[in-house]
Amino acid sequence: MSNQVYDVTLSDNELMRYSRQILLPSWDISSQERLKSSTVVMLGAGGLGCPVSETLARAGVGAIHLIDDDVIEPSNLQRQTLFTVEDVGQGKAKTAYEALLKINSFVKVSYADQRLTADNATSLLLVDKAKASNAPFLLLDCTDNFAARELLNQVSVAHNIPLLSASAIGMSGQLALYEPSKQNGCYHCVFGEALESEASDSSQTQTCANSGVLASTTTIMGNLQANAALQYLGRGHNPLQGQLLIWDGSAMTQHKLRYRQDKKCRVCAS
Ligand SMILES: [Zn+2]
Repeated sequence: MSNQVYDVTLSDNELMRYSRQILLPSWDISSQERLKSSTVVMLGAGGLGCPVSETLARAGVGAIHLIDDDVIEPSNLQRQTLFTVEDVGQGKAKTAYEALLKINSFVKVSYADQRLTADNATSLLLVDKAKASNAPFLLLDCTDNFAARELLNQVSVAHNIPLLSASAIGMSGQLALYEPSKQNGCYHCVFGEALESEASDSSQTQTCANSGVLASTTTIMGNLQANAALQYLGRGHNPLQGQLLIWDGSAMTQHKLRYRQDKKCRVCAS
C-alpha cells in the first residue's frame, strides 16, 4: 500500500511489526505510513532522549537523528535506559544509535557526537531536512541545558519547524509542542526572560546533576514526549496546542497551563 502524499510503503514485515498500533481506532495504515515518512532530530541522548528514542524507534518513526557529545558515566545508569554497565566511558550518541538499530532495523538511525553551538546549530539540527521536503519533521528537546534550548528554539522559529520540548527534574516535569506557524508562542515567550535572569547567576540553575532526579521522572516525561510526537507525526495532531503540560510525580497529578505569544519576544515576534 502506498501513501500518495509521502510516497512511502510498508512491507508485510512492517505491517506485522506495527499491527497492534494499526489496530487502534485512532490510528490506521495511513498514520503508520505518515510516521514512516517522518524525521525527528533529537538534542540529548540521556534521561529523556533514551526513552523517547526507544519508543519512537519501536513505534516506527522513519528516521531518528541523535545529537549528544557526552560520555556515559556510572551516575547515568540509574535512568538512561539504553545504556548498560559495559557502556560506561562510551559516547552516548553512538551507544544509543547502536541500541536503537538492534531494536528496530526498519528505522533509519544516525547520530552526531558534537556539542550544539550558535555556529553549528542550523547545520546540526536541519540534517536531512531538504530530503524530507514536505514530510513531517520534528525537533526534540531532550537536553537539560538552557543555552542549548534557546538555540533549538531559534532554529525552530527561523525555519518554521515544530519543537517538542521536555524537561525533567526531581519528581516533576514539563512538556510543550511549539508550532511556529501558529504564532501562539515559542519557548522563549514562555521561559526566556525568567531563565535568562536565572542563568546570569549559574549557581541558581537547576539540573539533574545538582538537584537530583528520580529514575521514573525522566522515563515518564520521555514517554509523554513520545506520546505527543507520535500523535503529531502520525496524525498531524498537536495534543498540547498552546498549552504547557506540568507533571507532578510526587502527587501523581498533571495539568495544563495556557500560554500566549509575548508580543515583545525577541525570537518569534517580528
Ligand atoms: Zn517567542
